Amino acid sequence: MNDKLLAGLNPEQLSAVTWPAKSALVLAGAGSGKTRVLTTRIAWLLSTGQINPSGILAVTFTNKAAREMQTRLSAMVPVNVKTMWIGTFHGLCNRLLRIHYRDAGLPQTFQILDAGEQQSAIKRLLKALDVSDEKFPPKAVQQFINGNKEAGVRAHAIPVPMNPYEAKLIELYAAYDAQCNREGVVDFAELLLRCYELLSRNEALAVHYRERFRHVLVDEFQDTNRLQYAWLKLLAGSDNALFAVGDDDQSIYAFRGAEVGNMHALLRDYGISAPIRLEQNYRSAGTILDAANALIEHNDGRLGKQLWTDAGAGEPIRVFEGFSDGEEAQFVVDEVKALARDGWNLSDMAVLYRSNAQSRILEHVLVQAGVAYRIYGGLRFFERQEIKHALAYLRLAINPDDDNALMRVINVPARGIGARTVENLQTASRERGISMWQAACGAGGGRTGGKVAEFVLLVEQLRARCEHLTLAEQISLIVDDSGLRAMYEADRKEGEERLANLDELVNAALGFMPHEPELAVVEFLTQASLEAGDHQADASADALQLMTVHAAKGLEFDAVFITGLEEGLFPHENSFDGKGLQEERRLMYVAITRARKRLYFTSAQSRMLHGQSRYPIRSRFVDEIPAELLQHLSATVKAAAPRRNAWQQEAAPAFVRSSSIAGWRIGQALSHAKFGAGVVISAEGGGDDVRLQINFAEHGIKWLDLRYAADKLT
Ligand code: ATP
Ligand code: MG
Repeated sequence: MNDKLLAGLNPEQLSAVTWPAKSALVLAGAGSGKTRVLTTRIAWLLSTGQINPSGILAVTFTNKAAREMQTRLSAMVPVNVKTMWIGTFHGLCNRLLRIHYRDAGLPQTFQILDAGEQQSAIKRLLKALDVSDEKFPPKAVQQFINGNKEAGVRAHAIPVPMNPYEAKLIELYAAYDAQCNREGVVDFAELLLRCYELLSRNEALAVHYRERFRHVLVDEFQDTNRLQYAWLKLLAGSDNALFAVGDDDQSIYAFRGAEVGNMHALLRDYGISAPIRLEQNYRSAGTILDAANALIEHNDGRLGKQLWTDAGAGEPIRVFEGFSDGEEAQFVVDEVKALARDGWNLSDMAVLYRSNAQSRILEHVLVQAGVAYRIYGGLRFFERQEIKHALAYLRLAINPDDDNALMRVINVPARGIGARTVENLQTASRERGISMWQAACGAGGGRTGGKVAEFVLLVEQLRARCEHLTLAEQISLIVDDSGLRAMYEADRKEGEERLANLDELVNAALGFMPHEPELAVVEFLTQASLEAGDHQADASADALQLMTVHAAKGLEFDAVFITGLEEGLFPHENSFDGKGLQEERRLMYVAITRARKRLYFTSAQSRMLHGQSRYPIRSRFVDEIPAELLQHLSATVKAAAPRRNAWQQEAAPAFVRSSSIAGWRIGQALSHAKFGAGVVISAEGGGDDVRLQINFAEHGIKWLDLRYAADKLT
């Protein structure tokens, strides 16, 4: 039995799996079998009778990883893994609090607030306390509360500040906690903190669990934060075995408070003389691994490790550079289809991107090509909250009687119109057979009546102002004037991503080619609903996997496409300082090491970003990889140009790579007999059949077919 379990492990893995009942840190690179070692160790502990299933506590990073570990374990040992304590920090804390709700001061039926519900709770609190939500935006309050909770700090423990603003935040934090206690609810951050406090204040309980969980095992240890580590220490005590696996080169959550320093702390706190190292990689072909190793060498302060494989070099990394983001997406989808025709499973292929907004154009091409796909750990573009809000305003602008749209945004951003008022409008509309909008127009005075009247006025103004604008201009105007932009600007946590998605919506509108120009808005909305309504391929179906690089952690695929490899996108423009850049490089390391057999790097020479055409230069990360590992696929690619720091050049003149099609260059300024001055932003086709995409100063972006337009261009 044991022999079978241990067969196939290399000597270092074997030593880690069969490590005595003492603490250890396995420090090893991607694909070296850390997760496998952790799972096999649990199986080995059980099958050798060293511990009962109830004596093990295992922490994973996601719920999916926990389920996977359970599945693997049940294939290895005949135990009921469902009863075992394997889960995420949140999941395990929830379980403990359910058992000890009384000691934790919670009602038996306590409910968990998700991020949205937490925000609503904060809004309610501000209202009850008559605190202005303009001065104290609910999102900012939420962030203050969660940040402190994640650092393990309660309101009363924050030193009294000089600054009255912060003093008020502390007061709100305390009041929020009191409100949650009254209502018997806990937010995510509270799960962990409450559980930590429960164990640290209740020695008998802590002793009970310490005697029970003789083995505490943690995957992805590099991404734990301070409170999580403190929680682990509390449970493991000094006598139990805390067995952690991790890779400092894959630490990608520093922005959320994760501390690689926990690795050093673990060695020190548990008197571990040296980490266990695994150096053989079993996941990736040699070329892919060489690329990962070469890239990460550019970081400093590493704990240091090298990976090797005996898998053979495999194929070179395919590098494709498209004229435009559209061409890049088309390339990815064409390759995916070709691989599928060759017998690869769609679900063994992943398309990775740095920022969520990048999925939009990929999704568009995938929908057109009829390729099934899933967005892992996220929503499809047109299902995202901010997109639905903006489109609801657009729908109201063309038809205010659209009750669904009205319901969606009547109080978004918050304008003091509560559920009761909305109910009254609904009743009025039902009783009198009119739309809610009509009911709203006739709503009486009073405080809430006044708020409704303001909303009516806003929509009237949007309608009037949208009338003579292009589709893209309408969306821009709506995002600004509805208050959505300001709302997301105030949201320091998720706002940036949501604003990027809204900008991307404007891009979608810019590139949208309606059949009937007068019906552009209607056609656009129809397409949006179709793309959103076309639900995600279900989990069991064979579907291409789309996800951010962050979401790809711990996963592996036969073929991986890393897209948008451009300065400003990946590495991200907000991360050009030293520390930020190193974290971006670790992200790139994670991305590369997801691939087993085939890896693609793709980028575009022009891209719509934040509503503007950009002419980015290729990501430095591609240049940090030895040229002999790369194979360039696009005919347009020339040798890497000298690097410029600022990639965000407004327009074309500084375009650095000379790629031309039918004599025209991306970024080249030109003049058209009818449309006037413009700049070429992308091109497609070849030979006699060439189309140029041109951004005209006065007429916006257009595609021109050179067969007809050539003689009008100078
Ligand atoms: P990451 O850092 O990306 O989380 P990891 O170190 O956790 O990677 P695993 O996911 O455990 O690596 O293993 C990578 C792949 O290598 C898996 O498919 C695993 O089954 C395989 N593998 C690990 N060890 C061996 C081995 N000794 N023999 C054959 N395959 C192995
Ligand atoms: Mg792993």
